[in-house]
Amino acid sequence: MHAPEESPNIGQPNRRKALKIAIGGIGAVALGGLAYLLGGRENGGMEHHDHEESPEDRQRMLDKMLQQAASFREDPKGWFARHREALLIQGPATYAVECVDEGDDLDRFLPGQGHVLPKNFDVISVPGSGVKYPGFAADLRMVSATNHLMGITSHRNCGACNGDDAVARNHAGELAAELGVANLGHVEELQRPSYHVALGANLRYTRKVRNLRFAEGAPRYFDASQWCLSDRAARMENVRLMLDIAYKHGFNNLFLEKNIPFELVIWYDPEDPAFTKEEVASEVREAFPPELRKTKGLLKLTFVEVT
Ligand SMILES: [Zn+2]
Repeated sequence: MHAPEESPNIGQPNRRKALKIAIGGIGAVALGGLAYLLGGRENGGMEHHDHEESPEDRQRMLDKMLQQAASFREDPKGWFARHREALLIQGPATYAVECVDEGDDLDRFLPGQGHVLPKNFDVISVPGSGVKYPGFAADLRMVSATNHLMGITSHRNCGACNGDDAVARNHAGELAAELGVANLGHVEELQRPSYHVALGANLRYTRKVRNLRFAEGAPRYFDASQWCLSDRAARMENVRLMLDIAYKHGFNNLFLEKNIPFELVIWYDPEDPAFTKEEVASEVREAFPPELRKTKGLLKLTFVEVT
């Protein structure tokens, strides 16, 4: 395994002001004192959540997430080396389908539903379990030709389903029926507050590494199984969606105020001609919304080889 590489910056520093306006009026809302940009779709995301967090609560949560992610962000290569054994998948895997949501922990949810997690278990993470991607069933059929597909899940207040639980449940049920696999249920309790706490996204362009969250002490990032999707536009849409969520329904203005870059971690296999480092880098950069593409410091690209 070679050292991961980072792009030190993306674009020019003087575009930051423009960005604040461009990404959903974040700067303007921050001036109002309470940076609570969440729309109705995110409210009630936690079952027992009867008050909105104060800005101080949110700051504390940001500090907690930064602390949790510190060792990874400082040295992704070293971190991966320490968790390599837990994260590498060799041979056929058993997959359950979930959302990219950072609180959608199937390794907790499924055992709670009476499922025993198989040894080579991993998740295939796609926004809304593929609710907006018509080619998903065909891609999953390809996967299930050589692996086992355990089933499909949905979750409460899914952004990709516009927060509509009925849409999320129906999609999971229909996709499961189409593929002849189990509908594994609806995750009601997310392992995050009513807003998103991801400081980054793991873009897995190789199936060799499982959801990072399965390793102890992993940062709570979004997880996207890009390797599974044959459609480049769909993969790019995933990246855009996760950025959108982080900057509009996550730490929002705090990313900007504290100058904390959102990290996109590209996991790739240098031996895999389907996803070369160059192609993947260009795909991910192309997916940046124009206002983020030209802004320094708000996005950090990290490449980690998986061999
Ligand atoms: Zn979701």
